[in-house]
This record gives sequence, C-alpha cells and structure tokens, in this order.
Amino acid sequence: MTILATPAGGPPGAPLDGPVRLRQFSAGFPPRVTALSRPGRASLLRLARHGLLLLPLAWLAACAPLPARNPMATWVPSPNHDIRRPVLIVVHFTDQHSVKESLQTLRTANSGGPVSAHYLIGADGGIYQLVADEQRAWHAGPGRWGTITDVNSASIGIELDNDGHTPFAPPQIDSLLRLLADLTTRLRIPPAQVIGHEDLAPGRKDDPGPLFPWKQLADAGYGLWPQGPLVDPPAGFDPWMALGLIGYALDNRPAAVRSFHHHFRGMNGDTLDADDLRVLYALARQLGASAAP
Ligand SMILES: [Zn+2]
Repeated sequence: MTILATPAGGPPGAPLDGPVRLRQFSAGFPPRVTALSRPGRASLLRLARHGLLLLPLAWLAACAPLPARNPMATWVPSPNHDIRRPVLIVVHFTDQHSVKESLQTLRTANSGGPVSAHYLIGADGGIYQLVADEQRAWHAGPGRWGTITDVNSASIGIELDNDGHTPFAPPQIDSLLRLLADLTTRLRIPPAQVIGHEDLAPGRKDDPGPLFPWKQLADAGYGLWPQGPLVDPPAGFDPWMALGLIGYALDNRPAAVRSFHHHFRGMNGDTLDADDLRVLYALARQLGASAAP
C-alpha cells in the first residue's frame, strides 16, 4: 500500500488522471457523427438506430474517467476492438492490522492521498475486489519496471492484509494463488509477470518484504525464479546489467539490491555477494539474453 510514504501517483495533480481529463474533454462530447455517404431513407433509419444505441453509450462514456473520443479527430468507429488488458500483477502488503481497516483506507481519501487496489486478500483467505480489472487502480505510485513507467495503467494491484512483520497466513497465500490462476488465465497476463511493490519502487517501498513466499509462488508457476543448479558466472559478468534486464531501475543501486534481496534471497542487505551473482546469472540466462560478455 502507498499511504504512508508518498501519494499513490494516481490522483490529484497528475495530468493523466480521470477527473482532470474528463473536464478537459467533456465540453465537446458527444461529438458529431459524420455521415460518410448520402443519407437515403435506409441510411437515415440506420442513423436513427445508431443514435438510439449511442445515447446510453454516451451516458456511460460521460461517467468514464477517460474521454471516449478525441475531439481533434473525426470519429469513424470500428467494431474491431475490446478493452485493454493489464500485463503485470503487483503484490503488496497493507502495513495495517485488519481487513476492515484496509477496506476503509482503500475506499476513502487519506491524508497522504487516496489509494486503492483491485483486490484485497484477508489473512483468512477472503478475497475482496474494490476496482474492476479493466480500471486503473491507484496502488503502485511512482516507479518503473523494465520499460513500464506508468505501472498503474499496466497492472493489477493485489493487497494482502499483513502488517509487514508477521509471516503470511497459508489460507491467504492459497487464495492469492487461486486469484493469480484466474487473472493470468482470464486476462492473459504472462504468469512470470508477477512482482512486488518494492521491485518497481526500490528505496521508496518495502512491500511485500522478505517474508513473502516468492519461492512458493514460483513453484506454482508465478513470478520469476532461478531454475536449476546455480553456477558461478563467467569473468566479466555484469550484475547490474542483469538487474536491469530483470526489470529493476538502477537509479539507486543499493535500494535496487535491497529489493532484489527481499524478493530472491528472503533477506535484508544492500550489497551484492557471490550468491547474488549466481542468482543473477541464472535469471539473466533464463530471460534469454545473457548479461555475460
Ligand atoms: Zn504497496
């Protein structure tokens, strides 16, 4: 969750966010429907039917956070489309003490700015959905993963009811695995594309932390994990290139190592050791592009 540090990056002041953009574009909405051919009687009937269909759509679009149409272009609609789908799943811990407290936090304004997530999973395994999958929840805040710089737009956020110091409850992880199976199947998110909040925001975030069972997720087929026996990398292996290849931003290298340690070693620390190099070499090879010279 992003309440305690910096605001979530979704809401006030961010030019791409809903309310601001809606005000900018709603003045010209709905735009004219341009008739492309001479409207005979049949065409007029078609247009009338179109108009009837467009009315409820226009009303729905007016409630949506983003404009349906760009007023600088002529609207020539095509039926060949569907909703955009996220490509990444981000796991968080709430850093709070109960589902009730987190449901309140994730659904209201907070002193640090409003935050949300698509899902919240209780320690008892109960799954709550707060934002529709196709909508942009405010869970990630500033950060980057690989080439993804607007993580909220590209991801599903899953909060786990956990205070950050207690081991994650088995029923909670069981439910998370069921939810991951659903999301990766239904939304076609690549199963390897499951990361932690701290992975995309090294130095700013610490969740889900070193207690989170990434190995258990990997055994179930989710997230990235080194496979096979770990071997020493060849001379000249660049661990920083490997970290960047995995997805970590390297603006703050000790912070990136700390996040890497939490995720892949289950420990704290901000300097790389020989075991880290073996893990990084394995991951780099798995990603199909060796960081070795
Ligand atoms: Zn978080």
